[in-house]
Amino acid sequence: MTVPTVQANALDDARVQLAEAVAVLGYPEGLHRILGAARRETTVSVPLVRDNGDVEVFTGYRVQHSIARGPAKGGIRYSSEVNLDEVRALAMWMTWKCALLDIPYGGAKGGVDVDPRTLSPAELERLTRTYTQGISPVIGPDNDIPAPDVGTDEQTMAWMMDAYSATRGRGVPGVVTGKPLDLGGSLGRRTSTSRGVAHISLLALAKEGIAPSSATAVVQGYGKVGADAADYLAEAGVRIISVSDRFGAVHNADGLDLSRLRAHSEERGTVAAFGGGLPIDPAAVLELDVDLLVPAAVEGVVNADNASRVCARIIVEGANGPTTAEADRILERSGVLVVPDILANAGGVVVSYFEWVQAQQGYWWTLSDVERGLDDRMTAAWSSVLDQAATTGSTLRRAAMALAVGRVARAHRARGLTH
Ligand code: NAD
Repeated sequence: MTVPTVQANALDDARVQLAEAVAVLGYPEGLHRILGAARRETTVSVPLVRDNGDVEVFTGYRVQHSIARGPAKGGIRYSSEVNLDEVRALAMWMTWKCALLDIPYGGAKGGVDVDPRTLSPAELERLTRTYTQGISPVIGPDNDIPAPDVGTDEQTMAWMMDAYSATRGRGVPGVVTGKPLDLGGSLGRRTSTSRGVAHISLLALAKEGIAPSSATAVVQGYGKVGADAADYLAEAGVRIISVSDRFGAVHNADGLDLSRLRAHSEERGTVAAFGGGLPIDPAAVLELDVDLLVPAAVEGVVNADNASRVCARIIVEGANGPTTAEADRILERSGVLVVPDILANAGGVVVSYFEWVQAQQGYWWTLSDVERGLDDRMTAAWSSVLDQAATTGSTLRRAAMALAVGRVARAHRARGLTH
């Protein structure tokens, strides 16, 4: 069984995308260099005393790519694959995502090169507190606001908020988003990325003239984004015929029973060996003949090696950077509609923004306020990307990048940081 490999350097892809946008916009090389450079990069060592007394030292990062349009914003990843270049790429994508959704934030990302599954809950808490102390000089509700990403969750954000608050001598709920409701989290935040992915998927299906009730889909990565996205799509009538995670994949041409699958995954920690379908090679999930493919795991999974075998009519990027620049060109030639990450998975940062606004104001929104605001913003961004693509005859990614990079560049110019 082969689990799809991950692209070694997402930063190369992020830079290619920026260079293409700069070329489309006709910007000079100096502005290109400003837009490509991270504003601030912080590396910290994160010592951890294991429960058995052993000492290990991990490396943590926080990269603030841009603060041109507002405080930096982006998730925290715990994974043994985290490295500075990956964090740089993810931070840059956050800048474009916030700009595309017209949220008054810049972009950031952070991470620790640790496999969280190898730590006990107490070790995870100690690691999170030490990492937070390390980056506390550069984060804060007005400077840089972390959120969950791969390998982190609401509990991680609660520890981060508490550790940061201790450095300030008061509770600071606005320092992170994706917190538990009891600590000032927002209703609807936990499922917001998935809701946005499903919302955009349905708009993309409609664009291609495919009714949800006749559509088939696969979801790679049955995690925080993928599992709920599958549920939302199934609720709309889409048949989910295969899902995968890092341990395996399952397939059922009649459609998977998602409530049974969720129970299985919660009990076993994987979708592998689910009785409601047949096992399938996780790499093959990306190549199934379906209407909709939702990669919702990690970057670089659709690449030059497999892009020509992708049969889906539409790819909606639940993950950040799942399609490499080379794969993009292959998919463009074969006519696959690729809805880029900075649009497709922006629901999380939209509701993070709502959570931050609520914390700043001390006034809490209802779930319907949140969901209406999310749907409206996702629809508006989708329409503007579609219009831009139609006007310029470009792919949705190039259209989204041109809109986003244009907004960040205008902020730079208005501030007088460049000319
Ligand atoms: P997660 O850790 O909750 O889930 C990741 C899932 O992907 C897990 O099921 C894991 O087993 C699976 N996976 C990992 N490597 C895989 C591989 N090679 N093949 C198949 N499956 C694999 O993480 P998440 O928060 O759901 O994030 C997933 C993606 O979505 C990431 O790219 C993340 O940056 C992006 N994203 C997350 C959010 C959010 O709100 N959590 C928001 C925007 C974008």
